Amino acid sequence: MTTPTVATPVDTASDTPTYERLLTAVTDPDGREVLDPATGEVVGRVAFGSAADVDRAVATARAAQPAWAARADSERIDLLLKAADAIDAAAEPLAELLSREQGKPLNGPNARFEVGACSAWLRATAATELPVETVVDDGDTHAELHYRPVGVVGAIGPWNWPMMITIWQVAPALRMGNTVVVKPSEHTPLSVLALLHVLNGVLPADVLTGVAGEGDVGARLSSHAGVDKVMFTGSTATGQAIIKSSAETVKRLTLELGGNDAGIVLPDVDPKAIAEGLFWGAFINTGQTCAALKRLYVHTDVYDEVCAALVEVAKAMPMGRGLDEQNVLGPLQNRAQYEIVARLVEAARDSGATILTGGDPDTDAPGHFYPTTLVADIDDQNPLVAEEQFGPALPIVRYDDLEEAVAMANRLDVGLGASVWSSDRDAARAVAARLEAGTVWINAHGGVHPMIPFGGHKRSGYGLEFGAEGLKAVAVPQVING
Ligand code: NAD
Repeated sequence: MTTPTVATPVDTASDTPTYERLLTAVTDPDGREVLDPATGEVVGRVAFGSAADVDRAVATARAAQPAWAARADSERIDLLLKAADAIDAAAEPLAELLSREQGKPLNGPNARFEVGACSAWLRATAATELPVETVVDDGDTHAELHYRPVGVVGAIGPWNWPMMITIWQVAPALRMGNTVVVKPSEHTPLSVLALLHVLNGVLPADVLTGVAGEGDVGARLSSHAGVDKVMFTGSTATGQAIIKSSAETVKRLTLELGGNDAGIVLPDVDPKAIAEGLFWGAFINTGQTCAALKRLYVHTDVYDEVCAALVEVAKAMPMGRGLDEQNVLGPLQNRAQYEIVARLVEAARDSGATILTGGDPDTDAPGHFYPTTLVADIDDQNPLVAEEQFGPALPIVRYDDLEEAVAMANRLDVGLGASVWSSDRDAARAVAARLEAGTVWINAHGGVHPMIPFGGHKRSGYGLEFGAEGLKAVAVPQVING
């Protein structure tokens, strides 16, 4: 097998980004098969790394870091902007690879949207200021707070938004003068390695490398003495493992972990007007989104109307192979996730809940397609409500009393996002303030913005990403006193 470290610069003169060229650049003919979740066909093959590959990548990143940190901030900004341009130039082949590997459609808030977000995030990160703060200046004392590079950042990511989340981790880390070793999910290595390949067309050698592999590669990175900070996005269970494995070396951590976001619909809404917002809050990326709406609490006065309006929207959204332009929903990315969704919907059905639409997959068809499923008349204790489904099945729980709805929303041990839906903004904000979640949206769910800090509450993790707070998270504060 060839080395799985992807740091080779693109020859921009002769290497016009095409799908075939990108795939060839990251493919190892002897590597692990990566399958298209819509068809089961082989998309490509990737060399999975070993502990020795991680060690080599970390040593390379350490060696490159002082020179990268010594560059002027303006030079790093310029390179991030050039990296954004390089992504735009390769946008269509990157989106095609993402669609084939992850399953998400090209259209809707999916593959093209994700690639577009990568360049947008790079530009926003380049534009973000983190000035030196004068904290005391009283004549006797002059103290300033500076932000220095951490050193080497290990970036470990999931399979749902693989490119965008990699950029969320990499862009601020590079901007602050760190070098980065990326460990993509074993389910979506091709698209992340292709992204790194494009970025390395403009970045200096060894500043950004990637090592594909399974959890053992991530564990090596998160315990490595040469890694100073881990940016991790994935499940709470893996986050807990990383806390343990990083303890020996007292690494800094940003942990974006699982969620089971609640939405509360107040009785004053117009059900038809909010139905599409509710739908995409829950079903963006076919429900495989950390901060998707995963359990909906609807006041009894509008319950039937909200359910009916959601069914109408759901039935109008085509699901199928991502490369077919009309689709906006795709398959589950992998069989294990399909099984989780199927098990939870069956648990709901067995309990007597009403399946309003979906819940009946075609088990003879190829691919991991699970139909868009809405479940009503379901108890709050049901596993479909209490566990993170991470797929296209939304439980809709009826409530009478707002106190009861707030208690149900807060009862779980995770708190990534939440939402409140109402025609009265002040009433919605009053409810929002009582919800235990890192972000509470009003009349929307799950939208992120490169300048708005994002992070979890409770077991959804700690640390913030995006904006100036995101830059601070990949830096070491240093006080200069005198
Ligand atoms: P996962 O935890 O199974 O895997 C994430 C990454 O961790 C993969 O690259 C995996 O190889 C690696 N890994 C596995 N074991 C490891 C170990 N012991 N040490 C270090 N790394 C290890 O998560 P997933 O299934 O890929 O992603 C789905 C989960 O991610 C969901 O729970 C979802 O809510 C969460 N998520 C959270 C956010 C957020 O911003 N909070 C965003 C996306 C996804």
